[in-house]
Formats: sequence, C-alpha cells, structure tokens
Amino acid sequence: MKNFVIYSICIAFLAPQARTAEPAPLQGYSPDSARDERDWEAKFRAIPDPAALRAYMLHLTARPHHVGSAYDRENAQWILSQFKEWGLDAKIETYDVLFPTPKERLLEMLEPARFTARLEEPTVAGDATSSQHGEQLPSYNAYSIDGDVSAPLVYVNYGVPEDYEALDRLGISVKGAIVIARYGGSWRGIKPKVAAEHGAIGCLIYSDPRDDGYYQGDTFPNGPFRPADGVQRGSVMDMPIYPGDPLTPGVGATKDAKRLPLSEAVTLTKIPVLPISYGDAQPLLAALKGPVAPERWRGALPITYHIGPGPAKVHLRAMFNWDTKTIYDVIARIPGGAYPDQWIIRGNHHDAWVNGAEDPVSGTSALLEEARGLATLSRQGWKPRRTIVLCVWDGEEEGLLGSTEWAEDHAEELRRKAAVYINSDTNGRGYLQVEGSHTLEKFINGVARDVEDPETRLSVWKRLQLRRMANPAGPGGAPAAPADRQELRERADLRIGALGSGSDYTVFLDHLGVASLNLGYGGEDDGGIYHSVYDDFYWYTHFSDTDFVYGRALAQTAGTAVMRLADAELLPYDFDDFTDTIHRYIEEISKLAREQRDQIVERNRQIGEGLFTATEDPRHKTVPPPKEAVPPFLNFAPLENGLAALQRATGLYDQALARATLGDANARLIAVERAFTLDDGLPNRPWFKHQIYAPGLYTGYGVKTLPAVREAIEQKQWKLADEQIVRVGKVLETAAAAIQAVFR
Ligand SMILES: [Zn+2]
Repeated sequence: MKNFVIYSICIAFLAPQARTAEPAPLQGYSPDSARDERDWEAKFRAIPDPAALRAYMLHLTARPHHVGSAYDRENAQWILSQFKEWGLDAKIETYDVLFPTPKERLLEMLEPARFTARLEEPTVAGDATSSQHGEQLPSYNAYSIDGDVSAPLVYVNYGVPEDYEALDRLGISVKGAIVIARYGGSWRGIKPKVAAEHGAIGCLIYSDPRDDGYYQGDTFPNGPFRPADGVQRGSVMDMPIYPGDPLTPGVGATKDAKRLPLSEAVTLTKIPVLPISYGDAQPLLAALKGPVAPERWRGALPITYHIGPGPAKVHLRAMFNWDTKTIYDVIARIPGGAYPDQWIIRGNHHDAWVNGAEDPVSGTSALLEEARGLATLSRQGWKPRRTIVLCVWDGEEEGLLGSTEWAEDHAEELRRKAAVYINSDTNGRGYLQVEGSHTLEKFINGVARDVEDPETRLSVWKRLQLRRMANPAGPGGAPAAPADRQELRERADLRIGALGSGSDYTVFLDHLGVASLNLGYGGEDDGGIYHSVYDDFYWYTHFSDTDFVYGRALAQTAGTAVMRLADAELLPYDFDDFTDTIHRYIEEISKLAREQRDQIVERNRQIGEGLFTATEDPRHKTVPPPKEAVPPFLNFAPLENGLAALQRATGLYDQALARATLGDANARLIAVERAFTLDDGLPNRPWFKHQIYAPGLYTGYGVKTLPAVREAIEQKQWKLADEQIVRVGKVLETAAAAIQAVFR
C-alpha cells in the first residue's frame, strides 16, 4: 500500500480569508492530485450553458408528463438518447407501481345553499400549455381511498395536531364531519391522517390566498401567485410509514415482485381527500357558523372565518382507477478507475404532476447539463476514481416511487457500494440551499466556496453567510441574534439543515444509511403554481430563473460536488461538524423533555387554581384542558456517553489523518455511515432505519433528529423515550467504534 499523507483541510478552513497563489488544499487529496482536481473542476464549471438548460426545459415541459402518460415515457426515452449521444453508458430501468387516477370527483354543498365546486383549472390566455386539458391529470390527491360521504363541514386551520387541541378547548369535535384544512403548516398527507384519527369521515384541502395567493402578490398571469382556480395536486400517501409503491414495501416493484393486496396497503389514507382552489373553497367557508376562528387561523379571503360545525353540509365523492403503471428510471454510469465499487450517486426526478417546469424540470435540466459536462471531460481524458451513477427518477411526485423502488431493488449492492447520494429537485433564483448528512457539512462548505453567485459574483458561500447575518428567516425577517452573528463569522463552516423527506434522497439516507445531500437555489422568487397546470414554461420564464443562470449555478455546484467526491483519494467525510451537531441535538431534546415537564406541572397547577373557569367568557364557552400525569425525569446519560465516545473517536480520527496509510480506509468510511442505522428501524416504522434523521410521523416533510427519542418525548411516551435513549446511545457508541476503526 502506498504511503498516503492526507493534508488536513483545517488549514484551509481556519483561514478562509487567506489569499495565496497556491490553491487551497482539498480534503481527501494529496497536493498533486488536488492540483489536477482543481484543473478538471474549473474545466467542468465552464461547460454548463443557460441556453442548453432553457432548451431542455422547453422540450421536457412541452406536454403533461405524469406517471402513466405518453409524454412521461417519451421524456425518459429522450433523456436516455441524450445520455447516449453524449457517450454515456445509460439504460432505462422500469418498475410497476400502484398509481390511482381520478374516475369521479364531485364536491357539492347541500345546505344551507346549493353549490357545486368547479374542480377545474381554466386555460390562461398567453400560456400555451395551460390549454392541454386532454392530457392534464385532473386536480386530486393521489392515494386517497375511494369514498362517498355527506356531512357537516368543520374548518381545522392547517389540520395539524395542535389545531385539534385548540378545537378540543372550543368543545368542537370533528367526529362524523368533513374537515376543510388549508395547505401549509405540514406536509399535505398529515392532514387527512390526523383528521381520520380524530374521527372525521372526509377531508378537503384548499390553498388559502394568504399563503400563496393574492395576499402574497399579484396572481398568475399578472404575477407568480396562485389564481382563484389554481389547485395544488399532490400525494397523500402516509410516507412517514414507508414511501414508494404501497404494494411492495421494502422490495423493488419488479414485474414478479410479491405484492400486497390493496386492502393491506397501510399507506393509503383512511378517509377520502380532495384538494380544491380558493375559488371553490370560499362559498363553503362563507357558509360556516359557530365560533369565529382564532386570529392565527384566519386566511385572506374576504369573509369572517368561522369554524363550524355546519350549517354548511357538503357531499364529497372521490373514486379512483386503481391501476398499475410502469415507471421509467433513466440510469447512466461513469465507471471509476481506482474504486469502481464505490459509488457517488446523483439524482433528480423527471416526472411532474402536469407540465412541471419548476417542479422538477428546473432541477432535471441542471442534472442533464452536469451529465453533458462530465461526458465532455471523459472524452478529454478525465477518469473519476469512483463510479458515478446519474439517476433521473420517475414517479417522485406520487410517493418517491422511482428512487425508492430502484434503491430497494438494488439494496444489497447499494449497501456495499453507495458512498454518497446527491439530490436536487426544484431550483430558482437566490441563495444556495443545502440540507444533508453532517458528515458532509465541511465538504459541501468547501464546494460552495468555489462556485460563483451569478448576481453578485461573490462565492455562493459568502453570499449565504451574509444573508444569514442579515435575515436568517428570509427577506423581511429580523437580523441574526448577536451570538448567531458571532458564530457565522467565526465558525469555519456554515451549518446545514438536516434532511426530513419530500424528495428522492429519502430511501438512500433513511432506509439504506447512505450519506446524502439535497442541493438547490432559491429564496428570491416566490409563487403559487406549485403542482398546478400553471407550473409551466411560460410561468418559469416569466417569474423565476428567467435567464437560467441559477440553473447553471446548480449544475456547477452539484457537478463539482460529484467530481470532488468521485476523485478524492480518501472520501472527504468529516466527523467534527457531525459530532458538534449531535451535541446540539442532545441538548435540544433534553431541553424539550424539561419544558414538557414544566408545562404539564404549570398547567395542572392552573387547573387546580381554577384559572380556566375563572377566565372563561360565559358567552363563548370553552373546555378547560384535562389534568395530565406529571412525566418522570428522563435519564439522558446513555446519549451523553455516546456523544463522549464520538468526541473521543473524532479526535483520534483527526490525528490519524495526518499520518495514516490509506489501506481500505474508504470502505471502512462507508461502513461508518451504515453504523447510524438499525435493522429494525424506528419504533413502529421499521422501513426508516436511520437513527439520526427521519421525517416526522406528524410533520411528513419536516425532519425529526434523533427521531426515536424526540418523537417519544413529543408524544409523551416516557417509557419508550427511556428505552430509545439507551438504544440510540448505543448507536452513537457503535458509530464511534467504526470511526476509530477507519485507520486501525
Ligand atoms: Zn419535485
């Protein structure tokens, strides 16, 4: 084995302002190979071309291309032909998945007045593709069960668990009712799930103009926001249980896969669901009486928001074709020279709900430009050390079908070979947005320093750092607190968020334990065309990244990341930022447990003092909250011990880096990532195996870190919390041992 000296990246990061003629060292590279790498990367970043990105978008969005449509398949074949034309080794892999489409949709108000919802998105003059009604998938929520129900209506705000606590206080039950929830506040699939748990028999979801309509800005086609008849389609599959084909959990949906009967598919909703526009929602909401909705529940419709129940009574009929459809994943491979069995995987989906210019083609186009760039370099003599796998997924919108089925199908090989997965999805103008595994936090900071922001010519890293100081919550938000500003100035790396769910990284990170990143640009344009017929080429080229320079920035960022991972002599995982982040998570959850306890003690005391009955307005009756058992103190020592082991191992790893021989350190680094998973997964959802990150059972997309412990505390399951603290503490110790074994 060649003696291998790894130059510590710390030198570069401790002095980010230093300017020298010599390029900064690269983590995982010897000086010579770092120089080569920087040359190839610079050549790569010169390739992505806004005109090409525009042409891809024009082609891919020309017709609706949802799963099962003719154009979905044509797009996959066109992408395949592009890959081949560029000289890449590519193929299409197909799976057969359950994909319901609407057979009948009816929503009418029966009382106190008759009204029938239109449930249609009209053609907009000037927007050519908005008229393709024959090929458009009607507005609906996929994986709603069939249903025909009539009942009084109740307005439930966003329809998340806290909203039902507020309803309890008002003495309002949704048992036997149809609820109407507005989009936002959680992933949409949580709304019918929580409604059903509270006894509702149907669920409507509408887009309130306050959230993405005229309250935010001019509506389409005069502006980017949602018009009165715009509807957000979307999946309501119970993805926090498992994503992918509902009939083949844990295995690839190949032709001969063993399938569950439809009646055993637990990720379908329990009640019928239908999404509607605010044009259709307004008459229903206006007909509600009962208590006036609390201020934070009120939207921007010109009505007084009441909660009900009734007197509005509605009839909802939603019936579906429960068909099996073929999905088409396009997969290209650039074989690695030194480590062909270590894979760097890069993906973005190609399917859309309708024409899908922003979601997903803004990201798909960037991936195609990366593929063209890497193919060009290959012809010029560049050969990656590791194998690069480029994936253009189908069926993301319905429930991450293409990525999940492919990864389940190839799970055994991926567990051995997959080093990193890099995802993107929608892309727009603005700031770099990164979430992912914190073992890659330092790495992606390094990449961000080398990509130029098209608007300011600063590095995208610098622009993001300054933006976080100015207004971390986004434009118009408050500036960062002093302690945060200090950290932003002094910490070598900008923190990255953790991954929940909502795109194709889910199976790689959560199911297989592959370190993952999700990349994109955004924050300067908003809009209200998400999952509607108006998310099309006309909208994107009028209101988003109109000159495709942020498409180019995404291709440059993700492409640089892929090359730098694929070419490194030693995989550039880093455990300092990771351990620092775990430390924060443990502090967060012990604080959460303390606050939960304090709140319950205080509220029980208030109930004893008669506070709720004394302060009640007799004309607006409310129900005092029930007394709760005071939770026990939890023992966080096993997590603290796990953290201490991680800190020790990380220190030893950093020391070993300076004098280590490479050996099979790379393979053992890949094994470290797998050590964060447990075979039997999270409590009651074994498909989710990662013990550091998971989408929340009641947030859907929103992440829960140290999920087994955090969710047990949130759900007040104290015994479970105690057990999970021990279990996750062991995971941290196992990971620490794996880190220490890298250079054994
Ligand atoms: Zn998408």
